[in-house]
Amino acid sequence: MKDRSLLMIPGPIEFEPEVLAALGAPTNSHVAPEFIEEFGQALERLRDVFLSSDGQPFVIAGSGTLAMDLAGANLIEPGDRALVVNTGYFSDRFGELLERYGAVVTHVRAPVGARPTLDEVEDALKGAVYQVMTVTHVDTSTGVVADVEELAALARRYGVLTVVDGVCSVAGEALRMDEWGVDIALTASQKAISVPPGLALLVAGPRAMEKFRRRKSPVANYYADWTNWLPILQAYEARKAGYFGTPPVNLICALNVSLKHILTEGMEARFRRHRALGSACKAAMAALGLGQVPVSAECAANTMTAPRYPAGVSGNDLLPRVKAAGAILAGGLHPAIRAEYFRIGHMGTANAGDLLATVNAIEAGLAACGYAFEPGTGVTAAVRTLALAQVDLR
Ligand code: PMP
Repeated sequence: MKDRSLLMIPGPIEFEPEVLAALGAPTNSHVAPEFIEEFGQALERLRDVFLSSDGQPFVIAGSGTLAMDLAGANLIEPGDRALVVNTGYFSDRFGELLERYGAVVTHVRAPVGARPTLDEVEDALKGAVYQVMTVTHVDTSTGVVADVEELAALARRYGVLTVVDGVCSVAGEALRMDEWGVDIALTASQKAISVPPGLALLVAGPRAMEKFRRRKSPVANYYADWTNWLPILQAYEARKAGYFGTPPVNLICALNVSLKHILTEGMEARFRRHRALGSACKAAMAALGLGQVPVSAECAANTMTAPRYPAGVSGNDLLPRVKAAGAILAGGLHPAIRAEYFRIGHMGTANAGDLLATVNAIEAGLAACGYAFEPGTGVTAAVRTLALAQVDLR
């Protein structure tokens, strides 16, 4: 029997053969006409994936944290006030990062698994003049999804720029930069964008670029400085060569392949598929009697699920057994509850078969741990939910 263990963590994920083939292809010169065309296309396609008509895309070698750094370094000037809508570990990281660039940061926090209410965020916005608000669209440490549409509208009313950490959301959860008035959205390649780790991806809307252009102080980070990258990205999009730092040629070609797949599926169909997978996974966990970290269905993400271990079962017992049954899952991440829950990613390339195989592996793991349940309960709940969703899940 083939080893078919599925990588079902919240990134990196399973990748398509055509994307992996682009990574393994002979490396072209970064100024070759064929590569210039690929990079130019990838930049255009990125705008379409972020649903931004006039944003400036940035594609730079690095992980998602570099994408956060690009936003912080280029937007923040010492003394700027930033509001962090805090839903967990990655929101904390954004606050810390902004402070490094001299921002005065206020956090609006919620209990673990919940999200601050709009009223709480508005109260904070009333309390001081902020330049920037950050929102973690899906906090991967809790599986909590933020209401980006409402938050961005609120920030707009107070003249505050909205920066969305979409590392666990872009190309999975609905995120509409233009329509919702999001000023910066950022992600990394290894999650729903479906390309191996190594690319920081960011789209900056006109108001964010305007704040960057009006800076009085230089950007306090050489590699991340848009002053260095902007002419290069504009050149590639105009199908000309440019050089600041050598672009990761193969990763960018792989990105271009994956963005083509994403746009061929269509953004709306993609959002529907993620909603169906998300609700099927949650229905399966509930049917098996497992609680979840997000405190309500409304604040639970579609790209991942964060189930709690049932009484008497620990991560050390369960996760290796689930892996032996075919699915690799992630342990807890939020420091306050790390040992109490695990994480399942179902984004990007994930289809119905992947999800059902994963739920089946979880059932096998739970049974091996001595947890009592009716075999097939979780898989049946997932199958029913997927059937009701009536979406194309091949
Ligand atoms: N933000 C969120 C929401 C994330 O999930 C992650 C990674 N899990 C990051 C930021 C950081 O990305 P990276 O690990 O690629 O630096």
